[in-house]
Amino acid sequence: MIPGPFEYHRPASLAEATGLLAELGDDAHVLAGGHSLIPMMKLRMAAPEHLIDLQDIAELKGITREGSEIVIGAMTTQHDLIASDELAQAVPLIREAALQIADPQVRYLGTIGGNVANGDPGNDMPGLMQCLNATFELDGPNGNRHVAARDFYQGAFVTARGDDEILSRIRIPVPAPGHGFAYEKLKRKIGDYATAAAAVLLTVSGGRCDSASVAMTNLSDTPVFAAEAGAALAGSDLGGAATDAAVAAMLAAIDPAEDNRGPVAFKKHVAGVILKRAIARATKRANERAA
Ligand SMILES: Cc1cc2nc3c(=O)[nH]c(=O)nc-3n(C[C@H](O)[C@H](O)[C@H](O)COP(=O)(O)OP(=O)(O)OC[C@H]3O[C@@H](n4cnc5c(N)ncnc54)[C@H](O)[C@@H]3O)c2cc1C
Repeated sequence: MIPGPFEYHRPASLAEATGLLAELGDDAHVLAGGHSLIPMMKLRMAAPEHLIDLQDIAELKGITREGSEIVIGAMTTQHDLIASDELAQAVPLIREAALQIADPQVRYLGTIGGNVANGDPGNDMPGLMQCLNATFELDGPNGNRHVAARDFYQGAFVTARGDDEILSRIRIPVPAPGHGFAYEKLKRKIGDYATAAAAVLLTVSGGRCDSASVAMTNLSDTPVFAAEAGAALAGSDLGGAATDAAVAAMLAAIDPAEDNRGPVAFKKHVAGVILKRAIARATKRANERAA
């Protein structure tokens, strides 16, 4: 299908882009990598009259370290995330997850900002950002504000972002040195969205878990930060009983729907299996890195 007609705008600065968005209102959408928006336009499920392309805005690109945080510009591509050795050193979970998104062609254009702003429960980065306790910066006519990734998602394709705001940067607290991490994703085939995915981050000392964070993808109409699952692991020996308790807490937090990826019972089963795998791999890594 061919998208409906639209006017194309290519601002050179964030201020120009937010000005255009405020002026054009609901009729305008920002365009990042286009790998979610353009397919929606081709299906006529989105029909913006104006597209504001963020491609030329240099201040929205790049990965920097600011004290104890990694700051990633919204227009940084998934390929850029994978290619950054500094990011892989500080927050290795991001490279591991980004490598499981789609295929290289999509990752060369798809951006982290588009992935988290989209609000699609199938996107991998939102759950990942909740696991990492990231904060999203939003810029609009009333200036700049910060929203925690854990508070950002309200429903499928509904977020805390105002229509006149652009998601400009993502701030990620650098996890403790030697932390364990894993992103486990089950998909029907290479390049597919998740049937279920689990992000786990944890720290270990003296054989016990000091802290743990768990988030799940595509198992509700929003990503699910499973706080109780993390709490079940924290303070434990990360053995079978603690893992079972974390899985039970996660299952109480998700609400999958039947679709072409399977019935509800199957999705819950898969969610349990991949969370167990993610906890086991994160634990192994934490123990190896601590040794
Ligand atoms: C074949 C295929 C397979 C895929 N598989 C996966 C997968 O396995 N996992 C996964 O996570 N994703 C997958 N994707 C989606 C891909 O990662 C997209 O690139 C991503 O979801 C959106 O990023 P984008 O930069 O392309 O955003 P766009 O498509 O340009 O924008 C998406 C939406 O977000 C809004 N938006 C974009 N940037 C901003 C911003 N900075 N501020 C405010 N609003 C903004 C747009 O207006 C639009 O509504 C797949 C896509 C394809 C085509």
